Formats: sequence, C-alpha cells, structure tokens
Amino acid sequence: MENIWDCIVIGGGPAGLSAALNLRRRGQTVLVLSGGAPLLEKAELVENYLGLPGVSGKEMMDCFRAHATAQGAVVKTQRAGNVVPMGDTFLVGAGTDMYTSYAVILACGVSKASPVPGEAEFLGRGVSYCATCDGMLFRQKRVVVWGLSPEAPDEAEFLHSIGCRVTYVASRRPETLADGIDFVPGALTAVHGDNVVTAAQLKQQTLPADGVFILRPAAPPDALVPGIEMENGRVKADASMRTNIPRLYAAGDMLGAPLQVAKAVGQGLVAGLCAAEEIQKLKQEAHV
Ligand SMILES: Cc1cc2nc3c(=O)[nH]c(=O)nc-3n(C[C@H](O)[C@H](O)[C@H](O)COP(=O)(O)OP(=O)(O)OC[C@H]3O[C@@H](n4cnc5c(N)ncnc54)[C@H](O)[C@@H]3O)c2cc1C
Repeated sequence: MENIWDCIVIGGGPAGLSAALNLRRRGQTVLVLSGGAPLLEKAELVENYLGLPGVSGKEMMDCFRAHATAQGAVVKTQRAGNVVPMGDTFLVGAGTDMYTSYAVILACGVSKASPVPGEAEFLGRGVSYCATCDGMLFRQKRVVVWGLSPEAPDEAEFLHSIGCRVTYVASRRPETLADGIDFVPGALTAVHGDNVVTAAQLKQQTLPADGVFILRPAAPPDALVPGIEMENGRVKADASMRTNIPRLYAAGDMLGAPLQVAKAVGQGLVAGLCAAEEIQKLKQEAHV
C-alpha cells in the first residue's frame, strides 16, 4: 500500500520544525518539505530568544533541525508546488514527487513574490505552479517554464520527458538543465491569453505558449492551496492554527506579525499538537 504520512509540514524554518518535533512527540509520522534556506540563517545574532542570547541564526537553525530529525522527523529539500485536499487525505506535489498525508501544516514563511499580470487570471487555464500535477495536460504542447527555484530544472526535465515542448526562461542557463530543452535568458513579465493561455511575455520578446509553469522558491499560500481563506494578504487561522480547510494548519511568519522566531516556534507547537489530536480522531473514526 502507498505510504501515507500522518502529517506533511511545508517549510523547514522554526515554525515547521517546531510543528514536526511536537508531532513526533505525539507519535505521528512527519515529512518536512523545505524548499530553501530559512530566513533565520541570515541573522548574524539572535538576541531575543528566551534563554539563548547571542546565538547566530545559522547555529539556531542547525540545533532546530538536529532536534527535529533526532526525534524522527524526515526532512527533504524539496519545494511543494501544490496541496490538494482529497477528503480524508491530502496530495502534496513536490518537484516530480507526490506525497499523501492525513494532515498538512503550512509553515512557509513570508512570500515576497508579486504575481505577474495575467498569472492569477489564467491560473488553472494554462498557468501552473506544479509540473507533476499538471504536466500531463500539456503533452505535445508548448510550455514555458520560468525557473526561479533550485528544483525548476528537474521539473522542466520532467515536462520534457512526457513530451511537452519546453522553453526554459531564467536569468542564466542552469548547469543542470537537460540537453534538448530550449533556453531563453530573461524573466516573465506577463501571461497573455484569451480564454486560455496563448503566450508568455518577456521584456524583449513574446513566446507563444499553451502553458506557463511559474516555479518560485515560495508560492503565495493561496496559489499553493487553492481555496485557502486569506485575510489582508495572510492566511486566516484560528487560535489552534486551523485554517478553513479541515486538518490544514498554518504557523509562523505566514500568519503575520510579529515576524519573530519565538512566535513561529510557539505557533508551530500549537499547530503540531492540534494536528496530532485531529489525525488520531480521524483514524479512530475511519478505523485506519
Ligand atoms: C536578517 C534577519 C534577522 C532576523 N533576526 C531575528 C531575531 O533576531 N529574532 C527573531 O525573533 N527573529 C528574527 N528574524 C525573523 C525570523 O527569522 C523569522 O521570524 C522566522 O524565521 C520565521 O520562521 P518561519 O518558520 O515562519 O519561516 P521561515 O524561517 O521563513 O521558514 C520558511 C521556510 O519554508 C520554506 N518554504 C516556503 N515555501 C515552501 C514550499 N512551497 N515548499 C517547501 N518549502 C517552502 C522556505 O524556503 C523556508 O525555508 C530575522 C530575520 C532575518 C531575515
């Protein structure tokens, strides 16, 4: 039978690792997907974390990761492209992999990406954030991949391998980009279409396209999970870190200010404990 994780945590910063640790303390299996270096690694010194004055952000993150993995959390360096609620379970697409879990905790930090014109309008009508999830819709068709994340060359290769005609756009050609994939230097400035996508606009040229894959290191939460309720640009969550989608929780900077480690760790703990309780309840009811 396919492996179902009790919980998938998206984001390996303080909030995500705190959630993972506390899920493990409650006996749940946990996969942490983390797409890039957490913000905290950039902090030269953290002076306001209770009991640990003067530790560097890098040292603190190394301790957090070591603690969570020592307790049995599995941490993979992968960017989650989308999260699909499927009734009792969730499907999480990451690169060319798909994972299944009973619960998901979003701990993605702050997304700084601004959508390009046409991106939101054509989402699901040619614009996609996940090659594994949507690639099959574009077999034998022209797709433009805007590669901003480290995993983007792999996703482009996957699209190429299933028969998509791929053009890869980035500031420079990644060393790992497969031969046979066309490369155009530049950045996406807009997506054009009629009812569906017809072209990707770069500064200097227009590339005809049936699909545009926008692969950022961090996608806005409502792009990652269509249907998630937002408030003033932030995910809306209750005091137990529940979102509007059952067994989908959020913690840390993505819930808004104060953008601080202690708050992220605390919210991760609450999300982890609430998720553990609700996963157990689901399993009892479903006799899993
Ligand atoms: C220079 C600097 C100094 C700071 N100094 C302090 C300080 O002294 N004290 C303090 O309290 N706070 C400080 N902060 C703030 C602190 O770093 C944040 O509040 C904290 O890291 C938030 O934790 P988080 O887990 O919510 O998010 P993050 O630490 O941002 O972690 C989110 C993680 O999720 C990953 N991710 C995002 N999207 C996806 C996806 N789709 N799939 C997989 N992974 C994904 C990101 O790559 C990242 O690794 C500082 C921040 C900076 C930048």
